[in-house]
Amino acid sequence: MSQKFIINDFENSAKNLEKLINKNNIQLNELLKIKEKTYNNFCVPYQLMQENLEVFTTPIFHIDSVQNSELSQKVYGECLPILSIYGTKLGQNEELFSAIKLIKSTESKILNIEQNKVLDNEIRNFKLGGCGLSDKSKKDLEDINLQLGELSKDFSQNLLDATNSWEMICDESDVHQLPASDKQSASYEDKDGNTKYKFTLQMPSYIAYSTYGNNREKREEIYKAYCTRASQNEDLIEQIIELKTKKSNILGFDSYSSYSIESKMASSEDDVISFLEKLASFSKNKANDELNEVKNIANKLDGISDLQSYDLGYYSEKLKEEQYSIDEEYYKPYFEQDSVVLGLFEFLYKIFNIKFTRIEEESWNEKVKIFEIHEDGKYIGKIFLDLEARTDKSGGAWMHNWHNKYDINNNNQTPSAFVVCNFPASSKEQKSLLRHSDVVTLFHEMGHALHHLLSNVNEPFVSGINGVAWDTVEFPSQFLEYFSYEKEVLQIFAKHYETKEVLNDDAINKLIKARNFQSALGTLRQVEFALFDFKLYQSKKSKEEVQSLLDEIREEYSVLTPPSYNKFQNGFSHIFAGGYSAGYYSYKWAEVLSADAFYLFKEKGIFNTNLAKSYKDIILGNGGSKDMNELYLNFASREPKVESLLKIDDIIS
Ligand SMILES: [Zn+2]
Repeated sequence: MSQKFIINDFENSAKNLEKLINKNNIQLNELLKIKEKTYNNFCVPYQLMQENLEVFTTPIFHIDSVQNSELSQKVYGECLPILSIYGTKLGQNEELFSAIKLIKSTESKILNIEQNKVLDNEIRNFKLGGCGLSDKSKKDLEDINLQLGELSKDFSQNLLDATNSWEMICDESDVHQLPASDKQSASYEDKDGNTKYKFTLQMPSYIAYSTYGNNREKREEIYKAYCTRASQNEDLIEQIIELKTKKSNILGFDSYSSYSIESKMASSEDDVISFLEKLASFSKNKANDELNEVKNIANKLDGISDLQSYDLGYYSEKLKEEQYSIDEEYYKPYFEQDSVVLGLFEFLYKIFNIKFTRIEEESWNEKVKIFEIHEDGKYIGKIFLDLEARTDKSGGAWMHNWHNKYDINNNNQTPSAFVVCNFPASSKEQKSLLRHSDVVTLFHEMGHALHHLLSNVNEPFVSGINGVAWDTVEFPSQFLEYFSYEKEVLQIFAKHYETKEVLNDDAINKLIKARNFQSALGTLRQVEFALFDFKLYQSKKSKEEVQSLLDEIREEYSVLTPPSYNKFQNGFSHIFAGGYSAGYYSYKWAEVLSADAFYLFKEKGIFNTNLAKSYKDIILGNGGSKDMNELYLNFASREPKVESLLKIDDIIS
């Protein structure tokens, strides 16, 4: 049954959450008292109890992102600690851990694949969290986690302080090529009343000068300041690697890299490294060609014969303007929001046989559009589209799952999800016209949503996007993205909203060419980051060893070697202050799956319904209930090929 988006008693959410959690705790204690625990009498109610909690909390957190107010912030701030304390306690509950292990050992043979996967994931997560260790090891682990928390906070703070403490003042002659809006943001009046321009190391400002700053010396000045930020982070990096190594040792792994892949699709450290090296070696020739293009234009325009890292952004932009640019304004009338959404639905009906029907129902905002999804006349799920920018909404775009699809012991539920974007607002007078990149975003988020909504799994913990390995989460989203560049797909909806004229082939080809601009250079850069991250966490390292690892990788794979003062590592927050440690490779890993799956469609036909059905049933339908290695092999009858990504990115032919 589909549930409406209604939040009762929002201001008292924290109190109600506490009540619900108390109820859960009481129920869990009751469950733990059961003498003969089985999957049915223990795991089923345990999952349902967690599901209820998620259904209750998701809208509360959702409201804070889509209709932010003082009240929503207050409620969020009250609920978050309650939930995280509950989560931490649950993750350390040895009795619960033992109960699940016991059920696994006694019932494994009579349980189905989904049920076994639920148990395996639970056991793995408990182990990775330190359950089952001696008290001494637990204490050590707790200390390490605390220290790591402090270190990552310091790492970010140092970076932030360094970013905010630097500025560069420019004259009119240094900025005359900047777009008006960037110039405007940088301009100020000095004490003598002269107009000057100030640039900082904050992203938009840094990017603006690196891309459009015509004074080469100033370009180097800002580049050097950027890549020498937070030199004290060097020492923190040493400590972070040491602690993460210790942590993985306590948990029974040789290194943090092997700990990291335990919960991912990649099956060995060598797998990850050889995958990245393959990508890099294939990309190098094309990257050299791309770099030569930039060198030529730098020479032609300004007689520069020794192109440096700090010139790359600027002359790449010149090259792009000359040969690869697309005029967003030309495309917008072809991408009117309503027709894009309806076109996307029509396309999804064509390949997946699923029908989207708009329903009128209240939700959090009048601009939200709600659709029911039917397959062969059967209701299978619900999607909330909140696509237009508002001042009370967080930026960017995302998908969030609400209900999970399940069917256990006569309890069943259909799934639901929210897709949120920040497209231009529509009004009675003005249609919402999208850029092509917005269309790509919508396809991307819809890819995530379908992964959740088209689940055929009965167990909530591994249904839809639940339990999906981290390095494969982006597979269905990137996969769907590729279709938004396909002529046959675009022709469904890319029609001028006034003249009804269809976007022509030439304009479509330009979109593809623009997408692949410097794709080999981009790939090499990502591989450089990913290899550095992964090899870094394979063993403990001194700061000198960290530097020489980076130097070696650059020596091998960079086509333009950065100056020796470049200490990129000191600003690599993804892996030192975020969750990507020994996992940065995941971006490219998922891209290979998406590209390879898409390539099959290119070979067998974009609207090949047999292939689409197999993708829907196998890849999407199984959610997190099986490993992606197995699902992929099942779907494609072969392993994914790195070459498919290289072909789609136009790196090899
Ligand atoms: Zn995504």
